[in-house]
Amino acid sequence: MTVSFHLSPEQEQLKLGARQFAGEHLRPLAAEVRKEHDPLSRALLARPVFEKAVAAGFLKGLIPAPFGGAGGGGVEACILIEEWACYSPDFVISLAGPLIALAPVYEAGTPEQIQRFVAPFLAGHGAPVAAMAFSEPEGTANFAAPPPAEGLRTTAVPDGDWWVVNGRKAWASHLAGWDGNGPDVMTIVCRTPDGVSLIVAEREHLAGHIEVEEHYDLAGLRGCLTSRIRLRDVRVPRSNMLGAEGQGVQLTYNAFWASGASIAIFAVAAMRQAFDVAYRYALTEKRGGAVPIIEHQSVADVLADAKGRIEAVRLLAWRALDAVIAQDPAGPELALHAKIFGSETGVEVISRLMNVVGVKAYDSNFPLMAYLSEALAYPVIEGSNTGIRRRQLQDLFRTPGYNPLSASGMA
Ligand SMILES: Cc1cc2nc3c(=O)[nH]c(=O)nc-3n(C[C@H](O)[C@H](O)[C@H](O)COP(=O)(O)OP(=O)(O)OC[C@H]3O[C@@H](n4cnc5c(N)ncnc54)[C@H](O)[C@@H]3O)c2cc1C
Repeated sequence: MTVSFHLSPEQEQLKLGARQFAGEHLRPLAAEVRKEHDPLSRALLARPVFEKAVAAGFLKGLIPAPFGGAGGGGVEACILIEEWACYSPDFVISLAGPLIALAPVYEAGTPEQIQRFVAPFLAGHGAPVAAMAFSEPEGTANFAAPPPAEGLRTTAVPDGDWWVVNGRKAWASHLAGWDGNGPDVMTIVCRTPDGVSLIVAEREHLAGHIEVEEHYDLAGLRGCLTSRIRLRDVRVPRSNMLGAEGQGVQLTYNAFWASGASIAIFAVAAMRQAFDVAYRYALTEKRGGAVPIIEHQSVADVLADAKGRIEAVRLLAWRALDAVIAQDPAGPELALHAKIFGSETGVEVISRLMNVVGVKAYDSNFPLMAYLSEALAYPVIEGSNTGIRRRQLQDLFRTPGYNPLSASGMA
């Protein structure tokens, strides 16, 4: 582990490039998304910007270098996410589908599978999307629970050279693709005769076999295309299974480490923006008093506590995502702390910053409510803190030989 708290010249350049792209494209996109009421129309607004991001090489930056991409380390990922998520976290979540859906491909795919499934995301043009089809409408936290628990409901049944997949999936971005015929790649977590397994369906297998039941109308992250769908008789070649049959539980958990850790930096982006609004307000508004409200100690204290928490979560996010991407054994534990602590701190900090502004903050045309709505998503997405993420920490703490100092490197 190298500890450095200074951005390298390349990281500075990445920050400025990402900031410029965000200012030029994501800020106006977010304004358009805010005005559109229909969830599908709203999500489709992102497509032209998506194509620009792909052409500019940002999607390749999400694919690790050993698999043909230009992916850097965890700190680089955090810099990009923070700069973009300040304006449009929904856009980042939409673009970052391959981060989750392709993780099990890298981990367990054959060289031929890796080449085939990663290819659309290396092309450098168009708007390729990937979905990690894990969540189900009737609940997912207990997907690995043995009978009598219901567990996972989506099934894949062997039929000669094919798997025939049936079931309902929900929440994952781009389950239906841009046009209802599916994403370029869908990694399906499903039940096969020998346990939970992962099967990759490509667009040619999905087209005509997806029934969209609903596009969710989210409170925040409103540009995300999250839907509830039914997969009907999706026929996928037997050779599209990742790893061994029954390996799906561990592959699924592993797929969500990077995205889980990244939630902390999404929370930082929302807090950073909310702090900026509340801080300016405190510096300039007197609210009928004799001095700007920052002169009142109670107001300054809220700002002080908020700023400290933002800095702490940012550092934790950098450390966690760096460890996950470098495949450091500390990665999973740090990712869990980043996910849980980062997301819950985001909600707490923005709620308290609303008290600095007062009642005006509750007007949805004043920018704070939008950041709070985004932040409220973070404890429940990418594996809810209560149902999944704290359970994973509980399992870790119960592992024989667990050393509480290992994650920090201080053992
Ligand atoms: C914008 C967005 C993007 C998303 N992207 C994806 C994606 O790419 N792929 C994907 O598959 N999903 C995605 N999701 C869904 C997300 O990952 C959810 O966290 C996941 O579906 C699990 O939900 P849950 O934990 O609430 O599970 P549920 O099973 O619905 O559980 C509900 C609640 O019940 C309680 N509970 C249930 N079981 C237990 C237990 N054993 N112990 C303690 N408490 C329990 C908990 O309070 C839990 O929160 C996304 C969601 C959003 C909003």
